[in-house]
Amino acid sequence: MIHLLINDDSKKNILDETSFGGLPVKEAGVTVEWPKCKTCDAEMQFLGKIKTDIGLEQIFMCNNDPGMCDEWDAEGGGNKVNVVTAENIEFFEPIDSELSLRATEYAVKLVETAEDDYDIARENWTGNQREVLGQLYGSPSWIQGDERPD
Ligand SMILES: [Zn+2]
Repeated sequence: MIHLLINDDSKKNILDETSFGGLPVKEAGVTVEWPKCKTCDAEMQFLGKIKTDIGLEQIFMCNNDPGMCDEWDAEGGGNKVNVVTAENIEFFEPIDSELSLRATEYAVKLVETAEDDYDIARENWTGNQREVLGQLYGSPSWIQGDERPD
């Protein structure tokens, strides 16, 4: 069984909810350096935060020179996930917001489905297909084939 991520504008700009784009969070009052790419040293782009059992998993990936920093490589240093577990949190901003933030924030609600397959669950979604932003749990739906890190 998987959970579909359904676009929900009413959940935008909420510190502890799953969203894509917008701003990352950090423990309130604590200085945190924005994640930088190991290859080019630029600030990585914040892609989103996902609320899971272990905290808010925040995803960063280099967008400074797309394709040139091995940002697809789990160990290459062109991507990073940090997990925020603090309860007292606040948003934080990069130095270069044009490079490091996405223009639009998409907030989501989770909808549990009976299906195990993302493509089938997406097809069975009775709302607008463009509301379906992805999935949580279950097996990944690969675009080009299984690319699990070693
Ligand atoms: Zn880079």
